[in-house]
Amino acid sequence: MQRERYDVVVIGGGAAGLLAATRAASRGRRTLLLEKNARPGVKILMSGGTRCNITNARDRRGIVEAFGPGGRFLFPSLGELDSEAVRRLFHDAGCPTKVEDDVVPGKVFPASDRATDVLDALLRGLERSGAELAAATPASGLEPLTGGGFAVDTPRGRVRAEAVVVTVGGASYPRAGTAGDGYRFAARMGHAIVEPLPALVPLVVAEPWIRELRGLAVDARARTTIGGRRVGERDGAVLFTHFGLSGPAVLDASSALVRARRASPGVEAVVELDFLPGEEEARVEVMLREAAQAAGGRLVKNALAPPLPERLAGALVRDAARVEDSRRLAALSKEERRRVARAVKGLRLRVAGDRGFAQAEVTSGGVVLDEVDPRTLASKKQAGLYFAGEVLDLDGPIGGFNFQAAWSTGWLAGGVA
Ligand SMILES: Cc1cc2nc3c(=O)[nH]c(=O)nc-3n(C[C@H](O)[C@H](O)[C@H](O)COP(=O)(O)OP(=O)(O)OC[C@H]3O[C@@H](n4cnc5c(N)ncnc54)[C@H](O)[C@@H]3O)c2cc1C
Repeated sequence: MQRERYDVVVIGGGAAGLLAATRAASRGRRTLLLEKNARPGVKILMSGGTRCNITNARDRRGIVEAFGPGGRFLFPSLGELDSEAVRRLFHDAGCPTKVEDDVVPGKVFPASDRATDVLDALLRGLERSGAELAAATPASGLEPLTGGGFAVDTPRGRVRAEAVVVTVGGASYPRAGTAGDGYRFAARMGHAIVEPLPALVPLVVAEPWIRELRGLAVDARARTTIGGRRVGERDGAVLFTHFGLSGPAVLDASSALVRARRASPGVEAVVELDFLPGEEEARVEVMLREAAQAAGGRLVKNALAPPLPERLAGALVRDAARVEDSRRLAALSKEERRRVARAVKGLRLRVAGDRGFAQAEVTSGGVVLDEVDPRTLASKKQAGLYFAGEVLDLDGPIGGFNFQAAWSTGWLAGGVA
């Protein structure tokens, strides 16, 4: 650190912190960005399968809606930097973008498909702004000073700042530097914290036979329930793993389910997979009957594959519907036909747990939104303190929404701190 005093200290050099520091310094504020890791932006590099799904091309309302009830908090930040503005910002910084539509429409990636280009563009902007970057320098303490301002403790000494922006992210992927430090800082300043829980997280399933399907990816509708009550529903790819389920549809459905399980411990949580969401269950039964009439000597599992992958069809017939592997279509009883159709349209898998923060893409929970002014991101508890990014109680689905929240809140905070 070159000085002992700064106008602004930004704690955490991720998506939100990089933009906050760049903008604060561009306004002429003497700005220090503290980053725990040897390099800033580690999550940017690992995101989107190293392609970085930078944002989503939806308009402001669409972004807000993706975040559910808390999303309204983002309106003023998006007013400063919406997804179109993010794309312009990266384009102007030498990182043009493109839009990809899959199950989630409007995903924005760098045209080069390289997350490193996203980070390089940010680092060039940071350097041009004149902000000072102190890497490998975690903030270990944050104290308000009598008379205003803050003291920030680091292993390299104590710095003073008029304003502090906390952009340390959440508690997911702690090996990437995000160990929940922000909650400690916020609590110390009198903020309430919504219990941080893993979100966008793979789920552990109780049925042991599911492990035989590991490595298989299939499109499905994932419905989650707790005690029979519907918690969420997502369409998209489902990935079978050695512990249970992952893939975008399951990750998206996981966030609400993890919180619901936490609120109702011991109550049965279920993921129900519908492998043919375009068909009625009765229609699947009819399909099986027609298949039996056309070629009764065929194995039941072969009547399902295609459309389903062979391995899945076999497991659904044998393990879920409990119909012998060798059973021919003509020998299928009405009750067995019903069970097979049920397995295809609503495979019930009991959730035994989740893979925790170690494998959660984001954290749900965090600094309570009511205690932060959405127009400035200033703390309502402590003058001069700001929060931006995932440390806030905001988490969105897969599709570029979480980065968008980090860019816009970081940008807004850097514009006022
Ligand atoms: C594997 C993976 C893939 C993802 N892919 C996508 C995607 O494609 N699109 C998308 O929108 N979102 C994605 N996300 C989510 C996205 O990465 C986060 O929501 C986003 O990075 C949050 O930004 P942030 O700036 O708030 O926090 P972070 O990016 O997590 O940055 C926080 C920074 O603060 C630093 N820090 C922590 N504590 C301290 C301290 N005490 N002192 C100093 N520094 C500290 C950390 O080292 C880190 O660099 C993904 C997440 C993961 C884990």
